[in-house]
Amino acid sequence: MQYTERLFRPPAEAESLIFQVATGCPHNTCRFCAMYKGVPYRVRPQEEVLAEFAQAARRYPEERRVFLADGDVMALSFERLRAMLEALNRLFPKLARVNVYANGSSILAKSDAELETLRQLKLNTLYVGLESGDEELLKKVDKGETAAGLCAAVRRAQAAGLKGSVMVLLGLGGREGSAHHADATAALLNRMQPRLLSALRFVEVPGTDMYEGYQAVSEYEAVSELIRMLRGLELEKTVFRANHTSNPVPLEGRFPKDREALVSLLKSLLPRLDKRGPGRLPFSL
Ligand code: SF4
Repeated sequence: MQYTERLFRPPAEAESLIFQVATGCPHNTCRFCAMYKGVPYRVRPQEEVLAEFAQAARRYPEERRVFLADGDVMALSFERLRAMLEALNRLFPKLARVNVYANGSSILAKSDAELETLRQLKLNTLYVGLESGDEELLKKVDKGETAAGLCAAVRRAQAAGLKGSVMVLLGLGGREGSAHHADATAALLNRMQPRLLSALRFVEVPGTDMYEGYQAVSEYEAVSELIRMLRGLELEKTVFRANHTSNPVPLEGRFPKDREALVSLLKSLLPRLDKRGPGRLPFSL
């Protein structure tokens, strides 16, 4: 496979066959995200991508899972997505699912019938960065999406049979905004009812450029924020994960049955956490 830039993928896609059908992110404005900074957005020519699919199918004919990179592949036109999915279905007879990163406005730009067609062609999971349910905070970090729009997008995608895998960012509101970020995010997620939910922790790294006055939360405050968020969640059928390296401990559970156990586990950890700084930072930043 041809990877022209550093490749990012969700942890759950470690075993998938990954094709970089575009490089970079078509938005690339989010202050908290350094993933594609300095990478010009470029969609690869369709013939080149389809030829790469065919070449990969000769080497990995049994492949069942595919991830299409980079950022917001749902921003590609419906026709282009359909053509890629049709090719993947034809070339990989055992194909079970194709997953992508997706922004809310890109999902909303597709009609219900288009979303349904893509699902029938085995588009499966849309990884959507909600980051926060706090509308003001999303503006401050230049997300370029509203929480209400992201909620509507995930609900529409899920109504078409796709799965929304939604990411939220602990610590995004800083010290001052922590409680409101936790409460607004829980309330938004309750309306959205994503099938999958991941909590990652925001850590400033080269390339991030947070808003003026942002004060990073400590490790202790980030986990306290997560406890507050979990307590506010009324999810009917959601798999929850906080297993990214940015989290102090890997967590996994199902809502609603595991909520109290997750909260108890996190509370038991609090005395051991760093109250002044970020604690142990992930090696893979
Ligand atoms: S968070 Fe997503 S939409 Fe924002 S810049 Fe990063 S990849 Fe692009």
